[in-house]
Amino acid sequence: MKEITPAKIAKLDSILAGASKATIVVHVNADGDAIGSGSAMLHYLLEVRGLDAAVAVPDRDAGGSSFLIPEEDRKYFFFFQSEPERTEERISSSDVIIVQDCIGFSRTEGLAPCLGRSSARKILIDHHIGPESDSFDLVFSKTDISSASEMLFHILMEMPDIGKDASKLPRISGRALMTGMTTDTNNFANSVYPSTFDMASKLIAAGVDRDEILNQLYYSYRESRLRLMGFLMNKMTITPEGVAYMIMTKRNFASFGVTDSDTEGFVNLPLSIKDVRMSVFLKQDTGFFRVSTRSKKGTSAQQFASRYFNGGGHENAAGGRLYFSDEIKSIRDVIAYLEQSINDFFA
Ligand code: 5GP
Ligand code: MN
Repeated sequence: MKEITPAKIAKLDSILAGASKATIVVHVNADGDAIGSGSAMLHYLLEVRGLDAAVAVPDRDAGGSSFLIPEEDRKYFFFFQSEPERTEERISSSDVIIVQDCIGFSRTEGLAPCLGRSSARKILIDHHIGPESDSFDLVFSKTDISSASEMLFHILMEMPDIGKDASKLPRISGRALMTGMTTDTNNFANSVYPSTFDMASKLIAAGVDRDEILNQLYYSYRESRLRLMGFLMNKMTITPEGVAYMIMTKRNFASFGVTDSDTEGFVNLPLSIKDVRMSVFLKQDTGFFRVSTRSKKGTSAQQFASRYFNGGGHENAAGGRLYFSDEIKSIRDVIAYLEQSINDFFA
């Protein structure tokens, strides 16, 4: 893989060799790829490199990815929203910071100021458009790859202590990498490359139990998720431009008794309709709506998210935010802004 040169591997190896305390940092609203790539790197650093290692997450908890963190691993995870001081102290006292599954500090939300002040060596391992390379000593980033988990897999395979032998990866790392790749590709439905199958094949050969992972990811939901899905599908709007949108209010969260992670993947569903070219899902948060968007080939979800919702991501899967403001005070205003944006985008 061109992005992973012997010179970069040597540099990574030497940074880790000189490290005493390493902290992995992932993006806010951490998903399967963030927690997966985070815990995979964590176990490589702990078990293979014998380092003092930890993962810092900007959120309150690991949400739907909690199954990746066994009880005995909790001490290695620092959730900023639950323990701000402990997390900041961990970052400030680390001499190596590894940012994964985001373009840089900007998507680590509350952790960004602390990362900016840190004088640690910094490494980026990502797969999004527009890496903030200037903030890092070493960058592994390309967009024609499924996930940060896949990027990390190929990096680890090149490390001298793994020597291209996936069976030398810690057991937890293999499971976590397979999980992150699976969630970012929606179980091999998008962003799949020859290198992705190569990774999956090597991990399965090394003993990773894919059935167990699929069971955790897709066959362990709560009933309320499906009931809510039916409700939202029924209320979905499809605009003349072929954009499907759904809006989930705080009230919906309460009346269905669901949490954020129960809505994972909903934004993908409207794309199964023939004439829908983009899907937008808005979820009410405190003071803003979180925006998720997915598109079919030929329509840029990334452009849409960055132009109207101050966000970004990938060409066909992106996100951003819509804040309440003087112009946007009610759900009705949100709908008007959204419809206007769609109209403008396709004009
Ligand atoms: P999701 O809809 O699953 O939350 O996010 C889809 C993709 O868009 C992910 O790759 C995520 O990293 C990116 N993304 C989501 N929200 C934001 C945002 O607020 N800003 C940027 N730059 N990217 C985002
Ligand atoms: Mn990812």
